[in-house]
Amino acid sequence: MTYAAGRHFLQIPGPTNVPDSVLRAMSAATIDHRGPEFGELGAQLLRDVRPVFGTTGPVVIYPATGTGAWEAALVNTLSPGDTVLTFETGHFATLWQDMARSLGLEVDFVPGDWRHGADPAVVAERLTADTAHRIRAVCVVHNETSTGVTSRIPEIRAAIDAAGHPALLLVDTISSLGSIDYRHDEWGVDVTVAGSQKGLMLPPGMSFNAISAKALEASATARLPRTFWDWGPMLAANERGYFPYTPNTNLLYGLREALRLLYDEGLENVFARHARHAEATRAAVRGWGLEVLALDEREYSGALTAVLVPDGVDADKVRALILDRFDMSLGAGLGRLAGRVFRIGHLGSFNDLTLAGTLAGVQMGLGLAGVAVDGRGLDAALEVLQDS
Ligand code: PLP
Repeated sequence: MTYAAGRHFLQIPGPTNVPDSVLRAMSAATIDHRGPEFGELGAQLLRDVRPVFGTTGPVVIYPATGTGAWEAALVNTLSPGDTVLTFETGHFATLWQDMARSLGLEVDFVPGDWRHGADPAVVAERLTADTAHRIRAVCVVHNETSTGVTSRIPEIRAAIDAAGHPALLLVDTISSLGSIDYRHDEWGVDVTVAGSQKGLMLPPGMSFNAISAKALEASATARLPRTFWDWGPMLAANERGYFPYTPNTNLLYGLREALRLLYDEGLENVFARHARHAEATRAAVRGWGLEVLALDEREYSGALTAVLVPDGVDADKVRALILDRFDMSLGAGLGRLAGRVFRIGHLGSFNDLTLAGTLAGVQMGLGLAGVAVDGRGLDAALEVLQDS
């Protein structure tokens, strides 16, 4: 590869740009994970990670990507043959339900158009009809990274409660945690699944389960096979700040610094920053005369925006051109959206000028790709940034 001057624009919706201070923190020497210094680090982190989940309860940390934490949520709470209710909100919801099936669970997969979140009315309908309480868990992806559409978790919780149904609520926040308002305790979530490489501004390789008292109780009788993912030995070791196996120590150094950055800015301010960047991005998309994939404004994502390209245009070719000319990576359309959308990530360590640069690159790239876009898109975004 020839030298590319300046900084690469990593505007995929995760992994996100890792702040310099986090990179520096991770470069410290690896220590003995059974020694006293590690015990202090572990104890501090296991406590300090809780506020970003909006919980005062336990959060376990796995040396694995988000997919592992998905599996952990299922195998710790469910038994073979249990039914889970899931929603086809996009590519990741589809993969999670595929995993549930492979683990021997029955899946009620509510079809969707990949442009809406999980419908609380359908949750209410399905659970009310399930008088035998065969459904043991409702699984929802909070922010569908493939579509830029969020699901309204408090309304889904309210629907479960209104049906008087005991199902657990399992929520994937892999691309929302630390970017979009999220409250594990207040919203009555039983297991929150998260990953390191998006709003937490870390490299990939670490993932999380925040666990409610009800989920912990369910784990006592859940019979799906589990070893690596088992909360039992993990929580026992965590009590003294340790792990039952080798943790990814250097990512934990990074987590300590990333949490410091997030709490220093204030979570409310972090969420507001992303919401404002998302609004400016949508202004640009509309200014270009293109369509945002998300259809319901209550479900707009603060973390990323998926943009539909006009018929006859291959979104992947546009992305390739933008990478070649402007050294910027944008997210590809996944699954059934391949070639039809590109995704602009505006999550993680990201400011007004990062967004302005990103949107300028997209606008120029669209023009070069022969997509007849109105050049006022960027101006519309800059107005939002200037005036809000
Ligand atoms: N769920 C969502 C919403 C995601 O965005 C991703 C990855 O992008 C995953 C699950 C899978 O996580 P990982 O690739 O870290 O295993």
